Amino acid sequence: MLYKTTFFHNLHASPYNEVTFYDFNFNEHLLEGVISMGFTNPTPIQEMAIPIILKGQDIIACAQTGTGKTGAYLLPVLDHISKTNKHQISTLILAPTRELAQQIDQQVEGLAYFTGVSSIAVYGGGDGMAYEQQRRGIQNNVNIIIATPGRLIAHLTSGVLKLNHLTHLVLDEADRMLDMGFQDDIMKIISYLPKNRQTLLFSATMPGRIRSLAKSVLNNPQSVNIAVSQPAVGIDQQIYRVHDQQKTPLLQMLLKNGSYSSILIFASRKEIVKSLAKELKQAKMHVSAFHSDLEQREREDILLSFKNKQLPIIIGTDALSRGIDVEGIDLVINYDVPGDPEDYIHRIGRTARAETTGTAITFVNHRDERKLKNIEVLIDKPIRLIDVPDELAGIQQVKHEHTTNKRPQNRRWGNKAKR
Ligand code: AMP
Repeated sequence: MLYKTTFFHNLHASPYNEVTFYDFNFNEHLLEGVISMGFTNPTPIQEMAIPIILKGQDIIACAQTGTGKTGAYLLPVLDHISKTNKHQISTLILAPTRELAQQIDQQVEGLAYFTGVSSIAVYGGGDGMAYEQQRRGIQNNVNIIIATPGRLIAHLTSGVLKLNHLTHLVLDEADRMLDMGFQDDIMKIISYLPKNRQTLLFSATMPGRIRSLAKSVLNNPQSVNIAVSQPAVGIDQQIYRVHDQQKTPLLQMLLKNGSYSSILIFASRKEIVKSLAKELKQAKMHVSAFHSDLEQREREDILLSFKNKQLPIIIGTDALSRGIDVEGIDLVINYDVPGDPEDYIHRIGRTARAETTGTAITFVNHRDERKLKNIEVLIDKPIRLIDVPDELAGIQQVKHEHTTNKRPQNRRWGNKAKR
């Protein structure tokens, strides 16, 4: 990984006069955490956003996952808390999913390790005991709460949580929160917060509704924008044009090829996820299916064993594409083309994290050509077409749709663009 080396001196001086973490005058204990995380130089979003946030200004930042955006808001916030040193809830971070909330919490734990700053992740989906634990954590006056909106409202309306001392509000993956219908919840939460606060909004995309949200919740914000919605350069993107009956055999061939050790497979619906996982298990592959029918504990166990490299393959829906922050994923396969081109960027962004390299392969059937076109418009280039291996060429196409891959036919099969 380009950013990650463990040489302490790199933090202080760079032979290329680059910005280093030393330039931000962070609290020394926070710098220790930065070193222990293996960060040497700030990523571009960190370089741009940190000075603005340190000055106390509101910010609207367009940055995808994989760019280091979590550190971009966490570091100045942690610096502020460690310098003011108060034992009260001063920062609220809202995130769309529990997986993202947990990952932010893990980054806080790593970066804040030597500062004494405390945090708690508050999200739904657990049992009564989890709720109780969260309630007790809140009452202990942690410094930072990282929460999904629904569960936070439960604690706010029960009167357990008081946010009168809040100085920082972060909206992380704001576009996703709006996609998931959290707009009203967010506005309700904001009605509980002091007006005099610093608000930091991070979003992978900047559609009009994010701009209007920003207008209503930010105060004279500075904008920061890094290469909007572009996949990391280290990702080798490929497509195969296939029909439905070729997809699973091609998938099995790619998985058996053996060059990849940590693999994510995305499919559009959980029924496909479940049936694919079953087929691959029958072919003696070590895979787990990740979808919304699983208990939270089961999801966590899957992610943990994937992170620890005990589990080489996960098959999931887009729920997986936002939350997962695992290093060393070398292959992402889109079993079908995601409907929203931005989901494509999120899915493939799971590989080549923080400037490593990886491969992203997408299976495109004729119904998905239009979706592919939209992706290529968004990323502003054609994706490399790879020929389907000869062994699979003879597989007959069944005219009726594959039962596990049935989707509404709302797109016509138009003239296929040759490339
Ligand atoms: P994010 O975009 O916040 O999801 O971060 C993506 C990954 O990059 C995470 O695993 C971070 O730990 C890592 N990361 C963030 N900032 C840096 C940095 N300055 N140097 C090295 N790695 C980083």
